[in-house]
Amino acid sequence: GFKMGIVGLPNVGKSTLFNALTKTAAAQAANFPFCTIEPNVGEVNVPDDRLDKLAAIAGSKEIIPTRMTFVDIAGLVKGASKGEGLGNQFLANIREVDAIAHVLRCFDDGDVTHVEGRVNPVEDAEVIETELMLADLESIEKRLQNIVRKVRGGDKEAVQQERLMRAAQEALEAGRPARTVKVDEEDRKAWNMLQLLTTKKILYVCNVDESDAASGNAYSQAVEKMAAEQGAASVVISAKIEEEISQLDADDMQMFLEELGLKEAGLDRLIRAGYELLHLETYFTVGPKEARAWTIREGTRAPQAAGVIHGDFERGFIRAETIPYDDYIALGGESGAKEAGKMRAEGKTYQVKDGDVLHFLFNA
Ligand code: GDP
Repeated sequence: GFKMGIVGLPNVGKSTLFNALTKTAAAQAANFPFCTIEPNVGEVNVPDDRLDKLAAIAGSKEIIPTRMTFVDIAGLVKGASKGEGLGNQFLANIREVDAIAHVLRCFDDGDVTHVEGRVNPVEDAEVIETELMLADLESIEKRLQNIVRKVRGGDKEAVQQERLMRAAQEALEAGRPARTVKVDEEDRKAWNMLQLLTTKKILYVCNVDESDAASGNAYSQAVEKMAAEQGAASVVISAKIEEEISQLDADDMQMFLEELGLKEAGLDRLIRAGYELLHLETYFTVGPKEARAWTIREGTRAPQAAGVIHGDFERGFIRAETIPYDDYIALGGESGAKEAGKMRAEGKTYQVKDGDVLHFLFNA
């Protein structure tokens, strides 16, 4: 599955947000109880109305949403790359995630201490980014010595690696994150293997007070501007509201949100923003037993999409019977879609589309 790491300075609302995410009624849905993999890792259902509609038509007994993993990466402070705070161990945690949800304090509250003694989310973002850049620089410098030795020894792959490392080093030394380096398509794989922290995509999460949840505030506007300049994403959320509504059932939650002038829970927007940032899509498998959603990267071909369900599905892939979501709904389900000629047989090169209802045929 896909993993988002939650980072941010101390006292910005990370734990509040993480608790809300993982304790929410949706996350604890009966068929997939919230599982604590580790104290700081939680899996969350990805909200998707389409799944309920499909299940209603097919009369599915069970509804199984797709899941996203969140990791609460606490302990990132100024000096983390030098081993301050909880230091390097946490930088290692960040290496494993697909994207970073960077929580920024966008609320004033004299009772909540700010580690820098002032509220300024844009500068906070820079503090964390600087630590990540320093960590990248250090890891590159360490690896470069080794690579240079290999290049001297005539290792062809090492030549490419050295070139990419030097490009990253140059950017980082100039105070630019590694994601600003232009990478050619043929270098993409080797570049990704460097696993640099500052090549991860970032979703800035503006944590605002309850009263600013609907409209945002000057702080969150400053963050949005910064995010736009960096090509990053941003969402406005009130972690406190999310914590409160995580305890409510669906009807009460809707009422509470309406009173605050909100259309949906911030967590739903957060998860959706994570989906967009990572270019993720959902396909469905639907039958009388269960209706289930699965996550893939945009552009994934049918066999690899099948592989998300089980490795055997990918290895023995024959074809995918495919019904687009809209046709499935409009034609009242599988047999209606079939009669209307809207069920297609797709082969190995088919790129699965968001919302496809799929049935895989494979050699066991
Ligand atoms: P962490 O250190 O980043 O995990 O921060 P916490 O989630 O523990 O939050 C630190 C403090 O800020 C707690 O006392 C929270 O109740 C408080 N807090 C979190 N979000 C908000 C908010 O939106 N407004 C206000 N006023 N306080 C908040």
